[in-house]
Amino acid sequence: MSRNEQLFERAQRSIPGGVNSPVRAFRSVGGTPRFIERAEGPYFWDADGKRYIDYIGSWGPMILGHGHPDVVRAVQDAAARGLSYGAPTEAEVEMAELLLKLVPSMEQLRLVSSGTEAAMSAIRLARGAAGGGKGRRKIVKFEGCYHGHADSLLVKAGSGLLTFGNPSSAGVPAEITQHTLVLDYNNAQQLEEAFGQHADDIACVIVEPVAGNMNLVRATPEFLQAMRSLCTRHGAVLIFDEVMSGFRVALGGAQSLYGIDPDMTVLGKVIGGGMPVAAFGGKRDVMKHLAPLGSVYQAGTLSGNPVAVACGMATLRLVQQPGFYDRLGARTDRLVRGLLAAAQEAAPAIPFAGDAVGGMFGVYFASRPPGSYAEVMKADKDRFNRFFHAMLDRGVYLAPSAFEAGFVSMAHDEAVIDESVALARDAFRTIAGG
Ligand SMILES: *Cc1c(COP(=O)(O)O)cnc(C)c1O
Repeated sequence: MSRNEQLFERAQRSIPGGVNSPVRAFRSVGGTPRFIERAEGPYFWDADGKRYIDYIGSWGPMILGHGHPDVVRAVQDAAARGLSYGAPTEAEVEMAELLLKLVPSMEQLRLVSSGTEAAMSAIRLARGAAGGGKGRRKIVKFEGCYHGHADSLLVKAGSGLLTFGNPSSAGVPAEITQHTLVLDYNNAQQLEEAFGQHADDIACVIVEPVAGNMNLVRATPEFLQAMRSLCTRHGAVLIFDEVMSGFRVALGGAQSLYGIDPDMTVLGKVIGGGMPVAAFGGKRDVMKHLAPLGSVYQAGTLSGNPVAVACGMATLRLVQQPGFYDRLGARTDRLVRGLLAAAQEAAPAIPFAGDAVGGMFGVYFASRPPGSYAEVMKADKDRFNRFFHAMLDRGVYLAPSAFEAGFVSMAHDEAVIDESVALARDAFRTIAGG
């Protein structure tokens, strides 16, 4: 038995499924999860000493790669000054100021510790603030977008158009999700119909402007523009959940690429640089409803934790270097173009498509990139699973699911990308045919 197998067996005795977050369990692809011992640059090493080129980057945060010396030093220095105070610090103010400068649609923000917490708080605030502070009940989300695991967000689409969602998790009473409307991604007409039926009670529309939790799916500009104008017209709060896309697809997030100003933005992942920092922010008019100023409650023992903030700030300093996102985007494109060419060379050629936005990419065993959850679901999952394992065997760690995006870091230089492509060429060859 390998050490990974031993650890997995042991882990399952004390932790449900052996993991602290479900997708790590390899349920979708089968096999034994790798237990990671250490990481450096674009690589990590598992408990059996095998090295992998890491294309999950902790599911987004590790945009500089692992163990950047400036980040490690910042964390060590902060830790030496105290781990947590439960009182405000100058560093939190600096972080808030920097985030507001880089994401100018936000006028104020609050720091929290996870994307789940940030999205949940943003929705509570939107509900409390909507309708001029009178409050509204309904929220609109889109199928395939993930906004953390708060009860009202764990919803799958109802069977008919414009029906309210059913809970997609046990433990969530239907009463909790009865005000969550689930619509198709990239379907502006459906959104318009939803406002037609429920305009006075829709508190907010929450969306991943570049979706990264159903593989990678781009929103069309028309879809986001329709959303913006419908929210403005009906007094609903438009929330961009940029936990994944923020500081990943561009310095100013997806909103800077599309040129759309949401009323609120949710951030996480990269802003913590690998430690627990997330944020929700927006227009002063909305943010003023938050306690202690307003009547919407939200709090956190470790919010703005000094060590986590130091890690996030060190990361954010480095991503502001001129040309950072151009270089990151070029490397990600190089990877995707290389994978496309490698799939074509396999005989018989494998239906395969790819897409990239900034440092984020999607690979699809389908003839073209998907535009909705339904299209994502049509991809050849079995083929992906074989590709995943063929890559893993060769030392390339992709997200262990056909329905997750991939992440490139600045530590993935051209040599690492080209090595990955060469290994993929070999992997495609072994999965072609069958
Ligand atoms: C990861 C993610 C979340 C949840 O963040 P956690 O820190 O895992 O709680 C929310 N929204 C989006 C878009 C995400 O990608």
